[in-house]
Amino acid sequence: MSTYNRLPIGFVKGEGSWLADEQGNKYLDCISGLAVCGLGHANKNIAHAIARQAQELIHTSNLYRIPAQERLADKLCGLAGMDKVFFSNSGAEANETAIKIARKFAHGSNIDRPEIIVAENSFHGRTLATLSASGNRKIQEGFEPLVSGFVRVPYNDVKAVARACKSNSNIVAVLVEPIQGEGGINIPNSGYLADLRGICDENNMLLMLDEIQTGMGRTGKMFAFEHSGIKPDVFTLAKSLANGVPIGACLARGKAADVLQAGNHGSTFGGNPLACHAALASIEEIIFGDLPGKAAVSGNKLLEVFNHKLASHRHVKSIRGMGLMLGIELETDCTELVVKALEFGILINVTAGRVIRLLPALNMSEDEKNLMADKLIDIVLQGGK
Ligand code: PLP
Repeated sequence: MSTYNRLPIGFVKGEGSWLADEQGNKYLDCISGLAVCGLGHANKNIAHAIARQAQELIHTSNLYRIPAQERLADKLCGLAGMDKVFFSNSGAEANETAIKIARKFAHGSNIDRPEIIVAENSFHGRTLATLSASGNRKIQEGFEPLVSGFVRVPYNDVKAVARACKSNSNIVAVLVEPIQGEGGINIPNSGYLADLRGICDENNMLLMLDEIQTGMGRTGKMFAFEHSGIKPDVFTLAKSLANGVPIGACLARGKAADVLQAGNHGSTFGGNPLACHAALASIEEIIFGDLPGKAAVSGNKLLEVFNHKLASHRHVKSIRGMGLMLGIELETDCTELVVKALEFGILINVTAGRVIRLLPALNMSEDEKNLMADKLIDIVLQGGK
């Protein structure tokens, strides 16, 4: 179906941060498959883990114990300080799990029509519940009636959350991204998550974070909430969890961890041995390579370079980022720069109309990062209107 306006280019081979098309032309990938291939393309360790597991056992279903899934659950819970995990196959499904947890948690406290606070400009996926939760009218249009039970407030506005809770006793949870990705690399004030934590604690509400884009080292910590010193009750992962093998995860702790019981939720493929082995190998490489720490350092360096070369340019409105999740906002729509970048041999993304988004692999080399910065600066200087 014609659900994507695809660029007229197709890749057939990848290596690290490079992709090659059918004619053998090479492109520097600065978005890693939309924050998925954080360890680069055709990563040897992940490829071996997948190949080994494919020869042993790909799938058994969740009717049986899955030892690799148990190991992955232990690993993720240990890293994040959470108690339990549900595995699915995508980000949207992971968020569906979080939404179901919030609703069932509410019904357990005799709230029959639970509502969840969500943010303007958020993105949580394309299923009916997650597009209803998303703060982007464009992705909702034509799919009404939307799923009810979401209350929208401006992002990075704690007072609006407090006001909403005061006037509405059906509110049971807050669901936000620690940094909005699709919304334009929007970074909230440093106290935002801690303040939300406080409101949730006062009102017996669940703090639920969508870490689908920010997770697995991208922002300079394994999980973005670690920057804030608080822990969510529920958070979701997908994208780079298995470096390209589809997987989603919804992690929960404390009172949220045991809300879903046998028969409440399920997935045929979710957490199968193949995906779990790919995720275990990815996590090992992220930890072993200290990739979150390195992402923090290189992100700061790149911000410095972009600020130095671009901040005073009249078409550049703002330069922002955390770790290797970077955005350069121009004054006007700049979606055409994606095509222009192809001529320069690099793959970039533009989100929210005028924010150039960079999501390079966490293990991109220094030379490649310099090349990315040089080319991007040229593209902005020449291409900005
Ligand atoms: N949540 C966030 C923050 C995302 O960035 C995305 C995808 O871009 C999703 C959810 C949806 O994930 P998926 O496309 O795997 O369903």
